[in-house]
Amino acid sequence: EERIVIGEEQSADQWQYSLRPRYLHEYIGQDKVKDNLSIFVQAALSRKEALDHVLLYGPPGLGKTTLAGIIANEMGVNFRVTSGPAIERAGDLAALLTNLGEKDVLFIDEIHRLSRNVEEVLYSAMEDFALDIIIGKGPSARSIRLDIAPFTLIGATTKAGALAAPLRDRFGVISRLEYYQPGALIHIIKRAAEILNIAIEERGALEIARRSRGTPRIANRLLKRVRDYAQITGDGIITDAIADQALAMLEVDKLGLDEIDRTMLLTIIEKFGGGPVGVDTLAAAISEETDTIEDVYEPYLLQLGFINRTPRGRVATLAAYKHLGIPMKTEEK
Ligand code: ADP
Repeated sequence: EERIVIGEEQSADQWQYSLRPRYLHEYIGQDKVKDNLSIFVQAALSRKEALDHVLLYGPPGLGKTTLAGIIANEMGVNFRVTSGPAIERAGDLAALLTNLGEKDVLFIDEIHRLSRNVEEVLYSAMEDFALDIIIGKGPSARSIRLDIAPFTLIGATTKAGALAAPLRDRFGVISRLEYYQPGALIHIIKRAAEILNIAIEERGALEIARRSRGTPRIANRLLKRVRDYAQITGDGIITDAIADQALAMLEVDKLGLDEIDRTMLLTIIEKFGGGPVGVDTLAAAISEETDTIEDVYEPYLLQLGFINRTPRGRVATLAAYKHLGIPMKTEEK
């Protein structure tokens, strides 16, 4: 079954492409990031130069790819998309780079997953718009320098900390995307509903917004599921009652937590006495990948203040006990 919360884009998400805003003024929320980028874009346009390299980081589904595409549109250049794991050899990257036009945007998703030798090719490309290529083997091998068109690299990552310092230092603009406030999510949901021809009441949108973990991709997924429910059980209009029933059926609770969040919290509390428990141990206990916990589940639980990260591992907070309705044994904490 399709998972609602899981961070990565799934093949089932392709319908969401039609919802991607194309220009900055259509991109809802993230005001600080937008204001910053808008100034950099205008400055680059007036100097007729390529925009500085941009690093976007933050949890999955917050709109990094969308924003990168918007930057290319605002600059009036081509947008090329790839990802860290897709670039296997240095030659693959060289081929991509030599095919870029003047000022084009190259978007590398999951840039923290580039291999070391690919990353090294990127350094001179980003800094000097040049590629150092080794020709031949053994004693006759020599290095030649190849110029490429000035371009803009936009990197996206869920883990800014996993980026090598020399790579991070080559980005002129580093922006962190934040979880969206319910108000912004209501806008996003109403805009998506309009594009998809879905009838929704303001309070229906609010109910979905509150349970979307601050994440547009999840808001869009929930909207689609609630629409199905509204069509089958009601007259197709999404009211707050319909949204509430549909989301309860999907086991998405009032704060947007799903079964895995709850299992995670319950495991910390019941199996590990409230913590601390190391993330690898926790992952093994609930049969999830450590990366999934760190990139997808944990950031939202941290944001809610339901867990704390300590040097010895994760600890469940009083707020988590309260949310789950479990009394906290005070003498332990
Ligand atoms: P990321 O690259 O951070 O994982 P995406 O850019 O793929 O996230 O965004 C996921 C979906 O959420 C997009 O398809 C788009 O429909 C929607 N979305 C993201 N950010 C916004 C926004 N600011 N305004 C409207 N829709 C958005």
